[in-house]
Amino acid sequence: MLVAGAGPAGARLAIQLARQGVSVTLADSLSSPQQQAFSSAAMPMAAALDLAIPESCWAARWSGWQLIDPDRLQHQWWSDDCLGVVLDFAAFRAQLWDQARDAGVELLLNTRVELSSLEPKAAEVRLAKANGLDEHRRVRWLIDATGARRALLRAAGVRLESSDDPLLSGTGAEWLLQGDDRNAAPWMERISFFLGRRWVHHGYGWIFPMDQHRLKVGVCRLPPLGCSSRSRQGLGDALKQLLRECGLDNCAVLDRHGGTISSTIRRRQELGRGALIAIGDAASTANLLGGEGIRHALVSADCLAEALPAVGGENLRSLYEAALHRRFGWRWPISGRLARRTWGLAPDCRSDRRMSRLIDGLSRHASAEDLSSLLFDYRFEGYGVRLLPYLLR
Ligand SMILES: Cc1cc2nc3c(=O)[nH]c(=O)nc-3n(C[C@H](O)[C@H](O)[C@H](O)COP(=O)(O)OP(=O)(O)OC[C@H]3O[C@@H](n4cnc5c(N)ncnc54)[C@H](O)[C@@H]3O)c2cc1C
Repeated sequence: MLVAGAGPAGARLAIQLARQGVSVTLADSLSSPQQQAFSSAAMPMAAALDLAIPESCWAARWSGWQLIDPDRLQHQWWSDDCLGVVLDFAAFRAQLWDQARDAGVELLLNTRVELSSLEPKAAEVRLAKANGLDEHRRVRWLIDATGARRALLRAAGVRLESSDDPLLSGTGAEWLLQGDDRNAAPWMERISFFLGRRWVHHGYGWIFPMDQHRLKVGVCRLPPLGCSSRSRQGLGDALKQLLRECGLDNCAVLDRHGGTISSTIRRRQELGRGALIAIGDAASTANLLGGEGIRHALVSADCLAEALPAVGGENLRSLYEAALHRRFGWRWPISGRLARRTWGLAPDCRSDRRMSRLIDGLSRHASAEDLSSLLFDYRFEGYGVRLLPYLLR
């Protein structure tokens, strides 16, 4: 078994299978876990506990939501309980890679996986190494865990989207800042989102707390499908403006990174072909409404790790697909549709008004826990269908 991509999905699958006695190679083009640590890595507390993410990877805990609306008004919701964590993504990856090595996984870094040929029961790959010493291997199962890039699915010509189920992509840029006890204070113990065209066209901005007064500040844009006209607002400009407006533009920048998050809207993407199977972002598991996918990536790896020894071959992909839908539930496909509605709006005063109405509705009817349920579990029923019109109109 060869797993291409050692992000959360690929590393988790490699660990689970190696512990079951399967011989696994895990390859990534990165040279270290600190390189391109692109993910803001916020997640709900329940997921951090259920998925046994070690506390050593939690950079901060949060118990509040803060939304800054198109008119710069701040709205806050607080819970008595801890609602979630922000992971140190580099530390999380490092911990997964250590676990993989301990479980007996062959971990190849600086190694790009390229598909040479694909058959029903085998695949041939080229392992392109940074030192130029390429290698060719033939494997029974090849896993595409290359994230939003979907490098192997694309090389195999697997159909990723259709007119009925298009792929929605978001591009994010994030800076890790060193704050101090004064300028970081308004952003600690909560996750903050900036909504409306004043901040980002077709997207949102965020500030997440980390340890030692560090802050992750980012912007993400998910332009509507078929939107050919490039927005005049650059992602870097939006980020710098957000920093200025929040008085954080003088903080030292410790790291700059960015990446893509993408998923098909109805989650009907083909999950592979022949000996090739996709997991994590490559399999369109991420939640585009909340801009998060780490827990989904980990769960998808667990689903495949459970299905593989059970059937071993013929029906593996359909069993795996059924397991995914069972674990994520019927609401899972809703998140893509809501993301398209929410972030696809034209950046004009009408959409700003709609966003303000949504935030106002949330202020009046929702608790901090409701916000978590809405953005992480796509649950509306806790505070009635009153908010649906704001999202679906
Ligand atoms: C800006 C931004 C902010 C985000 N914030 C959050 C958040 O707050 N919370 C959250 O839960 N999620 C967040 N996400 C999403 C989350 O990071 C992803 O859903 C998650 O990392 C997916 O895990 P994965 O293992 O499927 O893919 P990835 O983490 O993308 O890992 C894929 C790996 O494959 C490697 N690779 C690619 N091509 C090849 C190849 N050909 N050969 C070998 N290796 C290859 C890459 O180097 C990479 O290490 C964010 C994403 C972005 C872009």
